[in-house]
Amino acid sequence: MGPRVNTGEEHGGHESQDGVLRSGRSGDSPERKRSPPGGWPTPRSLYLHVPFCRHRCGYCNFSVLAGRDDLQDRFLDAIESEVRGVRARTGSESPLLLDTLYLGGGTPTQLTDARLQRLMRILRENVTLSPGAEFTCEANPEDVDVTVLSRLKEAGVNRISLGVQSFHDSKLQTLQRSHSRDHAIGAIELAAKWIGNVTIDLIFAVPGETLADWRQDLECAVSLPIRHVSTYSLTYEKGTQFWSRRKRGGLTPVDEAVDIRMYRASRQVLGDACFDHYEISSFAMPGYRSQHNSVYWNGYGWYALGPGAARFVEGRRHVNHRSPTTYIKRMLETGDATAEHESISLEQHAREIAAFGIRQIDGIDLAEVDRRVGYEFSRTIESVLESCEQSKWLCRNGSHVKLTSRGLLFADSVESMILQ
Ligand code: SF4
Repeated sequence: MGPRVNTGEEHGGHESQDGVLRSGRSGDSPERKRSPPGGWPTPRSLYLHVPFCRHRCGYCNFSVLAGRDDLQDRFLDAIESEVRGVRARTGSESPLLLDTLYLGGGTPTQLTDARLQRLMRILRENVTLSPGAEFTCEANPEDVDVTVLSRLKEAGVNRISLGVQSFHDSKLQTLQRSHSRDHAIGAIELAAKWIGNVTIDLIFAVPGETLADWRQDLECAVSLPIRHVSTYSLTYEKGTQFWSRRKRGGLTPVDEAVDIRMYRASRQVLGDACFDHYEISSFAMPGYRSQHNSVYWNGYGWYALGPGAARFVEGRRHVNHRSPTTYIKRMLETGDATAEHESISLEQHAREIAAFGIRQIDGIDLAEVDRRVGYEFSRTIESVLESCEQSKWLCRNGSHVKLTSRGLLFADSVESMILQ
């Protein structure tokens, strides 16, 4: 959809985000082999990556299959096999009990109607949603119609994430999106009627964009019936068309100072419209924070299915093959599409909770992190915290730590210092 951070899919950009929460530490401390007091939590969240898209947008580095809808049936066979394997590994006959379920991509709504129904049938047979569970599905504005929305609603989807990106036609063209401003507005209004809880992604700092353009995007967004917005500065990931074009001088990035002013404008315009800025890139009306992303930010463990998907279960992280065709082949031939896996040491786990948790505007309580891992981890990062405090990136109140307004602009640096 847009650049993301933390969706459980391994991609290098946004709302996940990248996405995959990985520190890369090998964990050679004495805490290496220990598990948290009470053991690793049983995941109650699942991310499912649907890789199909009409075409690949120039800035996208996600695991995507463009123009290969002929593979949809085999993909669903693979997903069915994978989710059954996950269930079997829990050792229980029961479906997986979930508090959050997230269908991302790619574009889940690129599945044909019959295949979307089959996907929902596979989920019905293998997962049970707890009362009040959050069930999100991503969609592109051009796919949103009554048929799709009614399918999503009858399957229990109660949150829809639209890859709007902008309300300016020229900016959408630069981003190589196939929808228009009118499509986006129509999709939001229709989705709000059917699903109620609508979140949108918006991208800023697109070549040629001015601060005034971005403010108009934000003002248009808050005039519409949305409950949540994720905003991302355009990134040029290696391997994408935008990366090559920029290298050749064919795309000129927005000046960094303007990029920062755009980020501040997001906070101001969305804040004035009662959207709470609760994570670096995320803004929500009261009661509409993303429950699913909160699981990533707080390191609670999650299942993940599909190409590039990364799961964190029982203190181990498994990442599936990024290539959708390799994923399908491996899954159907061997029942396992894992490309990499690693055990997470207790110290690594603590560092990840602290590093990703601090992305939340309310900050984190390090005493709580210590309690979760069962030892005084916070002492390990004392020098990092002191250095970030001196740079005025962090402020502390007892064991509570949060980013300052200035620190929000250096969150990636704080994150990597804590992870090291
Ligand atoms: S719609 Fe574009 S940005 Fe989104 S996943 Fe597909 S190719 Fe990537």
